[in-house]
Amino acid sequence: MMLNANLWWHDVDVVRRPPLEGDTDADIVIVGAGYTGLWTAYYLRKLDPTRNVLVVEAGHAGWGASGRNGGWCSAELPVGIGTLASKYGRSQALAMRQAGREAVNEIGRVIAEEDIECGWRKDGTIWLARNEPQRARLMAKLAEEREYDIGEGPTPVDPADLAVPGLLAAAHTPHCAALHPAKLAVGLAGAAVRHGVRIVEETRALEVRPGMVLTDRGQITARVVVQATEAYSGLLPGQIRRVLPLTSRVIATEPIPDALWRHIGWPGRATMSDQSLMFPYLQRTSDNRLVIGGRSIGYRYGAVPRTNHRDDERAWEVLEREIPTMFPALADIPISHRWSGVLGVHRDWQPRVTYDLATGLASAGGYVGDGVALSNLAGRTLAALITGTDSPANRLCWVGPPGRRWEPEPLPYLAIQAITALTALVDTRESRTGGSTGLAARLMGIAGK
Ligand SMILES: Cc1cc2nc3c(=O)[nH]c(=O)nc-3n(C[C@H](O)[C@H](O)[C@H](O)COP(=O)(O)OP(=O)(O)OC[C@H]3O[C@@H](n4cnc5c(N)ncnc54)[C@H](O)[C@@H]3O)c2cc1C
Repeated sequence: MMLNANLWWHDVDVVRRPPLEGDTDADIVIVGAGYTGLWTAYYLRKLDPTRNVLVVEAGHAGWGASGRNGGWCSAELPVGIGTLASKYGRSQALAMRQAGREAVNEIGRVIAEEDIECGWRKDGTIWLARNEPQRARLMAKLAEEREYDIGEGPTPVDPADLAVPGLLAAAHTPHCAALHPAKLAVGLAGAAVRHGVRIVEETRALEVRPGMVLTDRGQITARVVVQATEAYSGLLPGQIRRVLPLTSRVIATEPIPDALWRHIGWPGRATMSDQSLMFPYLQRTSDNRLVIGGRSIGYRYGAVPRTNHRDDERAWEVLEREIPTMFPALADIPISHRWSGVLGVHRDWQPRVTYDLATGLASAGGYVGDGVALSNLAGRTLAALITGTDSPANRLCWVGPPGRRWEPEPLPYLAIQAITALTALVDTRESRTGGSTGLAARLMGIAGK
């Protein structure tokens, strides 16, 4: 039976923690118990177990994007490495690439150390090129990989190994793990609490100021205030237009028999995507379902981080059609779950870690669709900055003041509508005709890819 519900929470007991009970204080208060808030809290206590760390969450730990994503723990960055190099220099771009890869391995290390069962498997990613323009983009991506090589680069995959109709080229990169997002969030919250972090849930921050967080359950005084609210940040006073909340939709199938997985050439749990502009992201789960997301983005006028059911319905149908197109052998596998979530995008499409020593205000986010691994790097970096611990991560190019805000409406709304319509047009035309369009390059330029 198909459910409009999130697969990741169907087999997880949500641990409910009590809300804040009146005014309190802490050394560091963190708003938001997604990966960013939880990693920050975890590493703060690891670096300095004497600090009193309090996490305040409006729902429950993992309620946001962290419990809804596609489960790719990938070293990919939302901005192309060439763009980073032209902005910050080659060595900074390479350092960021290295740090992304280390974040994937660090998550693997912590989940083993903390005994977090989250279906982790690091089999890498396979990039597919399903028509000529996609092949050209894949070749350009591989050329860029070689230009900014730090070892362990991608290797070619024989298209004949995969039962994907019309597959022209494919490549494998080892720097990605597949995981169960909600189990990671729940496990991480548990680990943070074991290390002495306090988490209060069902407690909404109404205002974030230097030295103080006002919530609907009381006021918290703290020297350092970390905002880890990503796509939801714009709802807080003074934060308007800092982050654009974009909706991404995901569907999951019923478990697929092993023989079928072998038949389609997908024996391990490497994640997959193609090179279309609005690319689909696929993972084989630890219980053998196919999870597929992407192919569209949603945006509500006024940067409201909420989804629109009618748009979701259309997007889910697109994803459902994608499965038999990509893998005809899976045409009869029923869909079991459909859900959506909201991710955060900065004006320059670059994620950022900020810490102002003078005010004690800190934040991290804007990871677009790459926050599973990057939030770990952000959390480690924030913990190091706040505790005054020297670390190479503190000097990465994404550490700095907040970037420029998005323009007032209707500009973001119109821009997102236009980009969505044009990318869909390009993707459809490329898949139907196999011909390229100059528009594709321009659209990728907008996203800094
Ligand atoms: C559908 C989807 C698929 C994705 N797929 C992938 C993927 O496969 N790989 C990948 O790397 N990334 C993916 N992402 C992105 C990734 O999930 C996010 O970048 C990451 O989870 C962000 O973590 P976060 O902790 O910063 O934000 P969130 O997980 O969104 O956490 C923010 C938390 O803050 C809380 N909050 C907000 N406002 C307040 C307030 N005022 N008071 C108290 N609490 C508040 C929210 O309830 C929420 O729990 C995807 C995102 C979505 C939506």
